[in-house]
Amino acid sequence: MLKIGCHVGMSGKEMMLGSVKDAIRVGANTFMLYTGAPQNTKRKDVSELRIEEARALMKEHGIEDFVVHAPYIINLANCVKQETFDIAVQFLEVELQRTQAMGSSVLVLHPGSHVGEGVEAGVNQIAKGLNQVLTKDMKVTVALETMAGKGSEIGRSFEELAMIYDKVVYQDKLRVCFDTCHVNDAGYDIVHDFDGVMEQFDRLIGKDQIAVFHMNDSKNEKGAGKDRHENFGFGHIGFDAMMYIMNHPDFMHVPKILESPFVKDLEDAKKSYEPYAHEIAMIRSGVFNPNMLDEIRP
Ligand code: FE
Ligand code: FE
Ligand code: ZN
Repeated sequence: MLKIGCHVGMSGKEMMLGSVKDAIRVGANTFMLYTGAPQNTKRKDVSELRIEEARALMKEHGIEDFVVHAPYIINLANCVKQETFDIAVQFLEVELQRTQAMGSSVLVLHPGSHVGEGVEAGVNQIAKGLNQVLTKDMKVTVALETMAGKGSEIGRSFEELAMIYDKVVYQDKLRVCFDTCHVNDAGYDIVHDFDGVMEQFDRLIGKDQIAVFHMNDSKNEKGAGKDRHENFGFGHIGFDAMMYIMNHPDFMHVPKILESPFVKDLEDAKKSYEPYAHEIAMIRSGVFNPNMLDEIRP
């Protein structure tokens, strides 16, 4: 069975319980959450996350796993400011504990940006940080996300991710989060040759290392280096190529997470609507619905 889900929030009184309710509401059987705002490191104590109730509801609905995404301000690759690096390492350590407490085995992490020091220096710094937080007996793995390559982002090629693997002591604690929009924008032809791209990935890293897919269509063409997600099937990757990956026999058990943009209101630019219930229904039906965006707008 397809493991399909989306990014859900975690806030207010319900915290993780609310996240699970959101996933169920949109028809998902897996999900991804940030433990707080993605752009800062302010976090609630695990005792306030309502983990037990959330786990009970997951069980009731047959949701087996979910993934956590580290905030994107964490930049392990920063070798210019010692302070930024130290904050990243400290936060990551606590985030790994939180991920385990919540019952997830995957923490998605953007490798980081080298901010001008070059790929090699950045990679060394990322590995140094990971080596400070990864331990032999930990249950959670860190999934390095494939990046689009904007600015000085590391992880735009499989080679760069492999370089990080090479320098990490406990490699079995590493995994990859394969973001389809990012890989397309980085220049890989997943539209016409997903299997060829996967062959390269397999040679450099191993396809069994993919712990989660971010199933994002792209507003831009292959190689644009942009990172702008499009609603499922409506971008340059397109419905057929997205579904080919979705249904690929090698990745049946891997959670597929949507990080789609909200659909903008036609009159009020400030209003937008969550697309996930419609997207998940369309994916399950296997048939592209060209009117979906209009149907999402009330
Ligand atoms: Fe991400
Ligand atoms: Fe992503
Ligand atoms: Zn992205």
